[in-house]
Formats: sequence, C-alpha cells, structure tokens
Amino acid sequence: MTKTVNHWIGGRTVEGTSGQYGPVTDPATGAVTTQVALASVAEVDAAVAAAKAAYTTWGTSSLAQRTTVLFRYRALLDAHRDEIAALITAEHGKVHSDALGEVARGLEIVELACGITTQLKGELSTQVSNRVDVSSIRQSLGVVAGITPFNFPAMVPMWMFPLAIACGNTFVLKPSEKDPSAANLLAELASEAGLPDGVLNVVHGDKIAVDALLDHPDVAAVSFVGSTPIARYIHATASANGKRVQALGGAKNHMLVLPDADLDAAADAAVSAAYGSAGERCMAISAVVAVGAIGDELVARIRERAEKIKIGPGNDPTSEMGPLITAAHRDKVASYVTGAAAQGAEVVLDGTGHTVEGFEDGHWIGLSLLDKVSTDSDAYKDEIFGPVLCVLRVESYEDGVALMNASPFGNGTAIFTRDGGAARRFQMEIQAGMVGVNVPIPVPVGYHSFGGWKDSLFGDHHIYGNDGVHFYTRGKVTTTRWPDPADAPAGVDLGFPR
Ligand code: NAD
Repeated sequence: MTKTVNHWIGGRTVEGTSGQYGPVTDPATGAVTTQVALASVAEVDAAVAAAKAAYTTWGTSSLAQRTTVLFRYRALLDAHRDEIAALITAEHGKVHSDALGEVARGLEIVELACGITTQLKGELSTQVSNRVDVSSIRQSLGVVAGITPFNFPAMVPMWMFPLAIACGNTFVLKPSEKDPSAANLLAELASEAGLPDGVLNVVHGDKIAVDALLDHPDVAAVSFVGSTPIARYIHATASANGKRVQALGGAKNHMLVLPDADLDAAADAAVSAAYGSAGERCMAISAVVAVGAIGDELVARIRERAEKIKIGPGNDPTSEMGPLITAAHRDKVASYVTGAAAQGAEVVLDGTGHTVEGFEDGHWIGLSLLDKVSTDSDAYKDEIFGPVLCVLRVESYEDGVALMNASPFGNGTAIFTRDGGAARRFQMEIQAGMVGVNVPIPVPVGYHSFGGWKDSLFGDHHIYGNDGVHFYTRGKVTTTRWPDPADAPAGVDLGFPR
C-alpha cells in the first residue's frame, strides 16, 4: 500500500480520525494500492460545519466573483485532463481515452456554470395591476450534499457541485469509496482556482457518512447518483428529514432495432454502447430488441464486432475495454452468463473465465452476448452492470415498445431506423427520460438536463441543465406597489386582492 486518501475540509487535507479505512484496488492488477479514510459522524459534522461557515460569505458573493473562480477552474481542469483521467483509470479500470471522455463531459457542466449569470437573471412583470410590479428571483439553499457512484468518479461529482456552487450554495461531496482519488484532485484544483475555503468539501466514507449527511439538520438538499435500491433509500430518508432530494438510480437501457435500420450502424452502436467501459455505465445498452426477421443477421454482426475488442489494462493505449471494478462484481456478472442457458438464452459469446497475460489477478471478464433472452430471466430483469448484452426478439414495433415500457427502469433508450415517422412515434410513446434516435447513448449535453423515469430517478428534478439550476435554488416572488406621488391614498379594502 503506497497511498492514503484523506478528506478535504475547509480548503485543506484533513486526515481521517475514525481509525476506519477502506481498500482501493487497481482493477487491472487486483492489488490494493491505496487506503481511503472512512468518515465518522463527527468528521461529517466537521465538513458540514465548514460548508455552513463558508456559506455566510459565499451565499452573498457577487455573480462576478463566482464566475471569475469558475472560469479559472475551467482552465485548470482543462490543463489537468490527463492527470484526472489517469487517476480514474488507476482506480476504476476504464481505458484512458474513455476516462478523458468522462472528464470532458464533466467539464461541460463547469462551462455551463460559468454562464450562471444568464441562468439566474430572474423575471419581471411590470404593471400587473395599477402601479404593481412582480419579480421572481431564485436564491441558493445553503449547504448541499452530493453522494456519487464508482462508475464516473469525476464526471458525476461534476454534474453536481459546479452548478450548486455557481448558484451560491456550499457543498459536501461524498464520493464512492471504491475510487476516491479523482474527487480530491477536483477539490484541490477548485481551491487553486480561488474557491474560498469550505465552499467545496470532500468527505470519504461508507453508509455511516451517507447517513450522517441524510440526518444532518444543516444539509438543505441531497443529490444522489447510484443504484436503484440505494437511490430509493436516499430519497425516502432525506425527504423524511425535510430535505430536497434528487436520487438517480440504475437502469436497463433498451435499443429497438427496426427492420429498415442500417444493420451495420446498429451493430456498431450496440457493441460500443454495451461494452464501452466494460458495461459499467448507467447509460449502457444492455438489451437489444430486434424487430421482425433481422434477429439472426443483427446478432451475427454484433458478434463479429464484439470478438475483435481488445481487453487489457486501461493505461495500455491499445486496450479498448478494461477490467471490472472488483473481483466480487466480476463474479456476480459472470453468474448471469453461466445461468443464462438454463433460463432459455442462447449463449453466443461467453466472456467468463477471461484473463489477460501478465495481469492474471485483474478483475477480467470478456464480452458476453446472449440471444433469445426471455423477459423473465435474471439476465434480463437485473441491471448486470458488466459487458453482457441481451438480445430479445419481437414481431412488431408495438411489441417492442410494450416490452420496453414494461421495464421498471426508464433511464436511456434508443431506436435505430431510417423511418422518421416511426422514430417520432417512438419518441412520444417510450417511457424513458432520455431517447436516442440512431444514437445509442443519448447522454444530454450540459445545457439540457439528464435524468430517467420510473425506478431510474426518485424526485422531481433531473440533474444539471435548467433542472440543475432549479434544484439548487428556490424561488421567491416579490409583488411591489409604488404609488405615483400624485395618487390619492388607496383606502381600506377587505376584499381578496384581484
Ligand atoms: P451504489 O448505489 O452502490 O453507491 C452509490 C453511493 O452510495 C456510493 O457513494 C456509496 O458509498 C453509497 N452507498 C452504497 N451503499 C449504501 C447504503 N447502504 N447506504 C447509504 N449509502 C450507500 O452504486 P455504485 O455501485 O457505486 O454505482 C453503480 C450504480 O450507479 C449502477 O446501478 C448505475 O446504474 C448507477 N448510476 C446511475 C446513474 C444515473 O445517472 N442514473 C449514473 C451513474 C451510475
């Protein structure tokens, strides 16, 4: 073990005092490289206290002051892209190019936050009644907490804190304990950009730290991204404690392929979206629904492409797919593949038992492709979160949409077709929060919001974009009457104002 990741509180590194540490593993070698401090309730209290103290000045800082810091932060992040991506690869395992993509998508939200002046302009209606004007403004909430998953250790935190602090809040981030280092670098760079101490704090930890944030009376709102069972728990607990909550959960994203689709384009997209980041993306395509007679041909083309993917350590530029996050997760993913045939699927590609020469202790698994998967099988029903693609076959567009809408998840979805009318109908009928038309992973750009439906999101607000600004602010409407100096007094009127 070479390194300890500590907390970042009040603008400096704070060593853990709970005596509890979690192991951080390099998924490519299986070696524990780092220990991460796990916060006690008292350490969470210290982070919230630092954020609360910083809010007294940051909450009233000028927009110019905030955007000056954010523009500097954007430049620093840009200069440190490689360093952030290398930390992601070392602890998550994804290939470096993919980690760079993650940083780029996180940077988008910092860029959005640089333009917060436009988003916070408010509204004014003049002369709504005689001499009466009405203005609407949005004000910050106070201390906001963010709890984030392992699969995007930089991007998902960046979905949250840049907008939250641009809106005038202060922030306590609790990153995934599986890959904690990127979060600290993000916080250090914010400090270097001039963010005042205490505006952005990072506490590492597990359920103890999360529960301390959910119970803390000084935390006004909670943004969560992670698995569905925990998202449901976070939403219920934080809401019961009177907090504003957005809790984004897991997914099972379907791609509907109509008979008129360009099958090569569909196969390229299916392979990229199912196996990219070893399937550890909440927007990964994990179920392809083939309509009509194209099933055999589509499966053949997916197989041909999947067989060529090079698996290896994320820091090897020739690798296209890295390992899974932990050995336990790898074994769980493998169990879906080994159990699939007994539940009626045809196992076209079996990635279990894969190893990489020289890295035998890494958390490897190859690409798996399951055909003719039934909707009551475990491989279909569960979010596997690994490189396993299920193919389902249906007779018609209507059958495909009915199958997809029966899923309890509703995160991302896609249709592949050359028929604009069918695509438009799909956009209207499908029950999911993000739709791709010939785009397999329709992650919205920063200025549109990201969020799913059904069990993929608990709460009312999607994340970032306009919804993000709304989530991190609350509205205030002022009705003003300034009588003209020449007016006679209005007099008493007990009627309800009309
Ligand atoms: P996870 O739910 O296990 O963990 C997420 C966070 O919750 C972590 O910070 C973790 O420490 C904390 N946590 C875990 N168990 C807890 C408990 N019992 N009580 C309180 N806190 C707890 O998720 P993960 O495995 O880190 O990430 C993968 C999951 O996240 C997948 O399901 C994926 O689909 C989902 N995800 C969703 C989105 C989205 O935008 N909808 C984006 C990324 C990931």
